[in-house]
Amino acid sequence: MEFDSHMEIALEEARAAAMRGEVPVGAVVVSANGAVLSRAGNRTRELKDPTAHAEILAIRAACAALGAERLTGARLYVTLEPCAMCAAAIAAARIDRLYYGASDPKSGGTAHGARVFSHPQCHHAPEVYDGIAGAEAEALLTDFFRKRR
Ligand SMILES: [Zn+2]
Repeated sequence: MEFDSHMEIALEEARAAAMRGEVPVGAVVVSANGAVLSRAGNRTRELKDPTAHAEILAIRAACAALGAERLTGARLYVTLEPCAMCAAAIAAARIDRLYYGASDPKSGGTAHGARVFSHPQCHHAPEVYDGIAGAEAEALLTDFFRKRR
């Protein structure tokens, strides 16, 4: 299925992030016609940048590729529930659909915490599909944090 193959790319990015010593989260932006516009994994440690989450890097790269400040009609696949910062960026980018893997009760801002998309101040809310390859995404995170302890 189409969204599974895109989530597989996000999982590859998450695995690559773990190899770099970053929290294993990966994201992919796909255009309305199904073309992969960008893919990224977390790089907060490498870039010394607390905003260098996979989603932010993927959104920036997709906007650069299109030469546009909005990604209308695009879909974002990410292995973990976006935090509040990333959810706000997803709304600002006018992303059409968000697919995510593992749930994040601790830092998530979509189904948990700030629940950014359900606020009246949120001018654009994507359709949200959760639990896509969630078990695999969660296993990557669990494994990563277990090895670091
Ligand atoms: Zn984030």
